[in-house]
Amino acid sequence: MIFNSARLKDMDIQYQILRQIEKYQTIIIHRHQRPDPDAVGSQLGLKNGLQAAFPEKNIYAVGKEITGLAWVGSMDIIPDSTYENALVIVIDTANVARIDDDRFKNGDKLIKIDHHPNDEPYGDLMWVEPGRSSCSEMVTFFLDDNIPLLLTDEAARNLYIGIVGDTGRFMYASTPETFIAVSKLYHFSIDYERVNREMSSISLVQARFSGKVYDEMKVEDHVGWITLTKAEIEAGHLGNEGTNFVVGMFGSIKEVLVWANFIENDDGSYRVRLRSKGPNVNEIAKLHNGGGHDMASGAKAKDQTEIDQIIKELKESANIFSTSLEKTAK
Ligand code: AMP
Repeated sequence: MIFNSARLKDMDIQYQILRQIEKYQTIIIHRHQRPDPDAVGSQLGLKNGLQAAFPEKNIYAVGKEITGLAWVGSMDIIPDSTYENALVIVIDTANVARIDDDRFKNGDKLIKIDHHPNDEPYGDLMWVEPGRSSCSEMVTFFLDDNIPLLLTDEAARNLYIGIVGDTGRFMYASTPETFIAVSKLYHFSIDYERVNREMSSISLVQARFSGKVYDEMKVEDHVGWITLTKAEIEAGHLGNEGTNFVVGMFGSIKEVLVWANFIENDDGSYRVRLRSKGPNVNEIAKLHNGGGHDMASGAKAKDQTEIDQIIKELKESANIFSTSLEKTAK
């Protein structure tokens, strides 16, 4: 086994979590709303690994099905009574308001496992490592390091999906530990090529919509953004989570340092998706009912005035960052 000091420090909490897992007959795993591949991958990977180690236990993964990620796996539908005397684990979810399925409160014990900054601690036990690329990376080590837990083909596939998702196929957020985790997963029988293809595929409808996004995106002062109204999304026939691919489109544009997608909700407010190649966008997200990571965050804007304010803050942040880069270069 390969340990670094950060890992050793976290073995104690992992040990405590394992003791709780051993104690409970029913374990229910939650994750955040509007899940991304890491939320679903870490949730299902943990479920697979626990199931392999404890076949006699009832282990469930719950939350709304998301059309775009149905290929990863499916959720369990369970009655309220299942929560009696259950251990609930919430994964990849920084704050309580974002947990998918309110029933997470109804279990006997609650555990938080996360890799976001721990701005809102919750649960009876917490294992939070903001330095990790993904919760899937954390679960990979958890299953691999702790006897009697097991990595299996199915767990490895789901965890690989999560790591690839949260690192943008190893373009960001990866550390040497990430590659150690992936090297462990590569020992299992996974159709990596198929998974990689699924992760980078968009539908023809989404491809055509990309044309519109490239045409209409604004780029000023190193900040890129686009607003997508409900009417535009409906006209594009993109469906529920169909705009998710848009946020990645700005990353390959040289002139863009930070960027935002403003996606209109049913009530006329906006979901804000923030990304960065350097400046911290999490601090801006926090000013607008959001949070996330330094380089990838989400927030909410109630109207156009708040959108304008966010763009202004992004420009200021991009300006400070690029000025300091220029100074360092001199
Ligand atoms: P997204 O743009 O939805 O992919 O989210 C990027 C990151 O920000 C993820 O780590 C999310 O968990 C987090 N995030 C998104 N929206 C919110 C929000 N409203 N509040 C807190 N965190 C958020």
